[in-house]
Amino acid sequence: MDKIIAANWKMNNTFADIKPFVKYIKKNQKNKNNLVVCVPSVMLSEFAKQAKGVCETGAQNCYFEAKGAYTGEISASMVKSTGANYTLVGHSERRQLFGETNEMLNKKLVAALKEGLKVIFCIGEVLEEKSKYKSVLKKQIVEGFAGITDFSNIVVAYEPVWAIGTGKVATTADIKKVHAFVKQTFKENFGVDMLVLYGGSVKPSNSKEILALDEVDGVLIGGASLKAEDYIAIAQSR
Ligand code: PEP
Repeated sequence: MDKIIAANWKMNNTFADIKPFVKYIKKNQKNKNNLVVCVPSVMLSEFAKQAKGVCETGAQNCYFEAKGAYTGEISASMVKSTGANYTLVGHSERRQLFGETNEMLNKKLVAALKEGLKVIFCIGEVLEEKSKYKSVLKKQIVEGFAGITDFSNIVVAYEPVWAIGTGKVATTADIKKVHAFVKQTFKENFGVDMLVLYGGSVKPSNSKEILALDEVDGVLIGGASLKAEDYIAIAQSR
C-alpha cells in the first residue's frame, strides 16, 4: 500500500522556494507514495498551482468558523478555494503555542471535513506525559473526534512532542507499541481502522526503518521537508 509522506514547512521557505521544490519532486519522485506538502497559507494558491499532478497541497491550520470578524484567520472554504485539498489539524505547536484545545480542534476537524478537505489530525504527548501516554492520547482522540461518523478523509499523525524538532526519535519498538495503541483506541471507540503516520525528527537516515513498520502508514516531516532532496530521499526510502 502507498504510504503518506507528508511535509510540514511550518513558518519556513518563501515563494521563491516553490518552483525549485516542485521541479525536484517532479523529476525525482519515482515510487508511488502519496506526497502531501503543507505550506504557509499565503503560499497555498501558488503551491497548489505549480504542484498540480505532482503532489497534494495542504494547509497547516484553518479556523472553525465559516466566515466573519476573525482577523488573521482563514476558513476551511478559503483553503479549499486555493486548490489545496489537505489540512493539518492539532499540530502540537498549535496546541502549545496557540492554546488550541481538544474542543477547538474538534470544531476545526468538523469544519475542514464539511468543506471536503482531507485532514491530518495530530496527537502526541509531551515529555512529562511519556509514562502515561495512553491516557493522554486517548483523551486527545475521544475529545478530538467526538461526534465524527465519517472517517474516510482523516488520517492521524502520532507525534511525540519531545521528538519534534529535537533530533530525538522514538525507538521503533515504541513507535510500534504506540501506533498499535492508537489504532486499537480508534477501533474500540469509533469502530474504524485508522491510518496512523509517525512524526518527530524523521530524516533520510532513519526513515527506512520507520516506514518499514507495518503499524506506520506514513510519516509527517518538519525540518527535513524543507529541502526537496531530503524530502524525496525519505519518500524513496521504502
Ligand atoms: C512536525 O512538524 O510535525 C515535525 C515532526 O517536525 P520535525 O520533523 O522537525 O521534528
